[in-house]
Parts: sequence; structure tokens; C-alpha cells
Amino acid sequence: MNKKVLVIGEMREGELRNLSFECLAAARKIAGEGEVVGALFGENSQQRASQLIQYGADRVLVSEDDNLKKYTTDAYRQAVIQLCNNENPESIILGHTSMGKDLAPQVAAELQSGLISDVVDLEVEGDNVIFTRPIYSGKAFEKKQIEEGPIFATVRPNNIPALEKDEARNGEITSVDLSIKDLRTIIKDTVKKSTGGIDLSEANIIVAGGRGVKSAEGFNTLYELADILGAGVGASRGACDAEYCDYSLQIGQTGKVVTPDLYFAIGLSGAIQHLAGMSNAKVIVAINKDPEAPILEVADYSIVGDLFEVVPLLKEILKKE
Ligand code: FAD
Repeated sequence: MNKKVLVIGEMREGELRNLSFECLAAARKIAGEGEVVGALFGENSQQRASQLIQYGADRVLVSEDDNLKKYTTDAYRQAVIQLCNNENPESIILGHTSMGKDLAPQVAAELQSGLISDVVDLEVEGDNVIFTRPIYSGKAFEKKQIEEGPIFATVRPNNIPALEKDEARNGEITSVDLSIKDLRTIIKDTVKKSTGGIDLSEANIIVAGGRGVKSAEGFNTLYELADILGAGVGASRGACDAEYCDYSLQIGQTGKVVTPDLYFAIGLSGAIQHLAGMSNAKVIVAINKDPEAPILEVADYSIVGDLFEVVPLLKEILKKE
């Protein structure tokens, strides 16, 4: 298989997100001996473009058009469509992030192509690319392929390992003129809600609390544990609904999907909607006082006990390490 694959990179606060490198790894697999073309929009794209080359792109197209400084559906859709029309890629790959989830269906609809979202793995068999994606809130996986038109997919973070960085790789970086017009949305200012801590979708360790944590003060203990571990803090919807923490921490079917190496599930029952967001974590440690709690069935290690006794002990031990 020798395909041309277009990868839309994603920046956050002037830095490339790791997921962009994972998308490149997926693209390299699809392209075979073909070409992987990276695309990057917004502030700092020119400086960051060489990183895409180092992680597998053959060349990169960048645009620092004022309208692309911050993501808006309208502007990015126009930009990606123009690149697709110019480049005619046989495959298009994006991250399955808030941006990818919003942008990919719109581009697919305009290109009248299929779209396979939330891909966690892929195999190439001859000319066919077979994608694996979770269904039924992560209870099962299905294999899918697009038989006609561009192969278009979004890739879930932390599932397809990035290629090793190769600083010796060279490739052309080209500034492209895109015509972005008739915008219905313009971002004037961004006001960020500060939750502090590490970005959950890219965290290697997550300490997540549930309704069992009982209060916002209880969550402070989890923040302390997370600090010691260098972890991000997440939550069940139960904890968010009870106002112990902000909804931006919610993990699950209607929250964030995370795949850290280590996930502490503390005082949360493990409802199927929560599992949908974290069951792909490599190692799950549950702390729950109920020996029948469903989370214990998916946990690799379980501590049955009162979190208000277990977590302080854990902190003490970890501090000594
Ligand atoms: P509970 O189910 O009340 O569990 C609390 C747990 O804490 C219990 O297991 C208990 O044994 C334990 N506990 C209590 N005290 C202690 C203690 N002192 N020490 C140790 N353990 C203790 N939920 C999500 O999380 N994410 C989602 O994205 C999500 N999306 C949803 C979408 C839909 C459409 C619906 C219908 C529901 C969704 N939910 C989601 C809600 C989900 O069904 C559960 O209600 C929720 O996950 C429960 O949160 P919890 O586990 O914190 O609370």
C-alpha cells in the first residue's frame, strides 16, 4: 500500500500535543511507502512543524493565518477542506480530541466520505486498512474499514504509540495561503477556568475520586496524593454532580476518555458510564470500602477499606519513597 496520508496536527498553547505524534505513527502505517503530509495551523506552527517531520511526516504544510490562531469549527473546516482539495490525500487522520470530534464529521460530510472515529488500533492488510474502535461504552470492540473514498479516521489519545523521535529526518515545511472567509464565529478572547494540574487526556497517572470522597475538602487529599505522584486529578460524575469538583475533571462516557499507565479509582463505584472513560488504563488500583463494588472487578489491585484511612497511609508511604 502506497498512500498519501494527511495528518492534521493539534497545538495547545503554542505546543504540539503528543497525540499529533501518535496520529503520525498511525499515518505511517497506512502510508507504507507512500507520503505522510502533516498540517499545522495557528500561532507557532512554523516553529513546531519540524517536530512533525521528526515523528514521521515527510513534509508539513503550515498556516499562521490570523483566523486560524485559535480553533473555530468554521475556519478549521475551511482550512482542512482546502488542503484536501489541493493535496488529494487518500487518507486523513486527526486526533479524537474535542477539536477532532468537532472537526472530523464536518469535513467528512463536506467531502462526502466515511469517517471512523475513536480508533484505538489499526492493521493494514494489502490495500485495506482495518480500524479497531470501542463500542457499548468500551464493553466491546469492533473492526471497521472504509471501502470507498478517503480513509478518514480520528485516533484516541494514548493508544497508538508514537514513533521514536528522529532528529536526523528532513522534510520540506511549506507555508500555505488559505482563503478563510465568511466566518460566522470569531474568537475575541478566551477566558480559562483554572482547574490547575495536569491535562487528563495526556496524564500518565490519574487519581480519580467519586462520591465516596464526600466533599470538596475530601478532594484536597486527592490533590495532595496526585502531587506526590505527579498525577492528574479526575472524578466520577457522581462527584461532579455533588459539586465536590469541577465538571472538567469528569471521566467517562460523557466526560473525558483517558488511558493512563496507572489509574487510582478512589471512592467511586465503577458504573459502566465511568468505565467507558477509563477501562483502557494499563493498571487500575481501586480503593473502596464495599467489597462488592463493580470497580473491583476491573481493577488490577484493590484495597478494600475506608479511603479516609487508606489515602493518608498511601501518601505517607509514597512520601518516604
Ligand atoms: P457512587 O455510585 O455513589 O459510588 C460511590 C462509591 O464510593 C461506592 O462504591 C462506595 O462503596 C464508595 N465509598 C463510599 N464511602 C467510601 C469510603 N469512605 N471509602 C471508600 N469507598 C467509599 N458517571 C461517570 O463517572 N462518568 C460519566 O461520564 C457518566 N456519564 C453518564 C451518562 C449517562 C447518560 C448516565 C445515565 C450516567 C452517567 N454517569 C457517569 C453516572 C453513573 O451512572 C454513576 O451514577 C456515577 O458514575 C456514580 O458516581 P460514583 O461512583 O462516584 O458514586
